Amino acid sequence: MAKDNKDKKDGKESFVTEITPRSQDFSRWYLDVVRKAELADYSPVKGCMVIRPYGYAIWELLQRALDDRIKATGHVNAYFPLFIPNSLLTKEAEHVEGFSPQVAYVTHAGGEELEEKLVVRPTSEAIIGTMYANWVQSWRDLPILINQWANVVRWEKKTYPFLRTTEFLWQEGHTAHETEQEAEDETLKILDLYADVCENVLAMPVVKGRKTDSEKFAGALRTYSIEALMGDGRALQAGTSHNLGQNFAKAFDITFQARDKSVQHVWGTSWGVTTRLVGGVIMVHGDDSGLVLPPAVAPYQVVIVPIGRDNWRETVLPTAQKIQAELRGVGLRVTLDERDERPGWKFSEWEMRGVPVRLEIGPKDIEKSAVMVARRDTREKQSLPMDGLAGAIKSLLDQIQSGLLDRARQFRDEHTQRVSTYAEFKQVLDGRPGFVIAPWCGAADCEAQIKNDTSATIRNMPIGGAKPSGGCVRCDKPAHAEAWFAKAY
Ligand SMILES: [Zn+2]
Repeated sequence: MAKDNKDKKDGKESFVTEITPRSQDFSRWYLDVVRKAELADYSPVKGCMVIRPYGYAIWELLQRALDDRIKATGHVNAYFPLFIPNSLLTKEAEHVEGFSPQVAYVTHAGGEELEEKLVVRPTSEAIIGTMYANWVQSWRDLPILINQWANVVRWEKKTYPFLRTTEFLWQEGHTAHETEQEAEDETLKILDLYADVCENVLAMPVVKGRKTDSEKFAGALRTYSIEALMGDGRALQAGTSHNLGQNFAKAFDITFQARDKSVQHVWGTSWGVTTRLVGGVIMVHGDDSGLVLPPAVAPYQVVIVPIGRDNWRETVLPTAQKIQAELRGVGLRVTLDERDERPGWKFSEWEMRGVPVRLEIGPKDIEKSAVMVARRDTREKQSLPMDGLAGAIKSLLDQIQSGLLDRARQFRDEHTQRVSTYAEFKQVLDGRPGFVIAPWCGAADCEAQIKNDTSATIRNMPIGGAKPSGGCVRCDKPAHAEAWFAKAY
């Protein structure tokens, strides 16, 4: 608190300059950016965060991009209750075992103790499975392709804004199919959809692959994930897609009459991505000056800062307003900073908030019928003519979007190393962080030993990855797959 008061006394300059440099302390830098860019704030409830309007706007843009793709692939949205009767959650043994340490219960309501305690959903397989059992009778009722946008609660001991909070927002898809193959196809289709959103909307390259049994979703047959590399070299699981097999169908009795008149259990999938992706965007692209937002999810893609002496409201503002209207006319998200602050202060603030493009307009620019255009990602500046400005800015934003993906991909590639001996493996993980690719035997105890020795986990085994050559990196038994290891969030 004392620090905040000091900020106010020293004037607003310190507000922007007081971000811990990313290179000095990544974790503090992240927390500074989250708070100073007004993305989120701590709440009176421990472990829960308040998503502020600027952070929520990023989530909404991401949500729209995801929702469009989810619907374009034949899914529809629905909504299921927040509470799940405890008896339903306990129906699938592996599922309840996996989630029980994180579950919050409602035991009292309406002034009395409930006969059966209610679970605050940590995920919705149990309640949705129960409903599907009523809705499915025949193969003609399949597939069911439903998604829901919701909040879930998983009690966490250690929380971190966006990346791990007790309550978070997400989408969860739950589908039911006639055959195992259809369920597997669905699981992988969604994995591709997630990768597409991460790469083309968030400019965040991901590795698509299968999780090991020890890392799979509680109750699933197979879990697939997309994994991204953050700016500090730690991995982030950015989304998961599960082939549930018939496990939940058997637990919840979801049966149907098949084409051959036999009674069978459906094959299920479930899949989700969360507000954690907002944290991913911050960590992949940000720099010492703060956020760097990909244009596709930037609440403002362009900020216009009028420059001028005391009378700028008369000399410059009308032109700035005209340009704002023109850019909005072609669908860009634009803000015009009319506050009575020095332009330099405004520049730093919008840089910190990650706005991809800044336009500076002063009397001299107006004379030349031009504007000064500054890129947030490369910090390059150039003067562009007002004539045809909207088109030029649009293509500049496209360049920034693809440039950010290229830059992140290059960083990822430079921080991914293939090793074959355990000595080399430990040495690489001890020094430069990032992904380490190595052959692995497939044994859970070997995986656990590696985690114990290095604190790295198997992020996934890429789909269509190279055939492993040689023996397991640790135990030298025949390798089962090439695994991507990393220290992870
Ligand atoms: Zn091994």
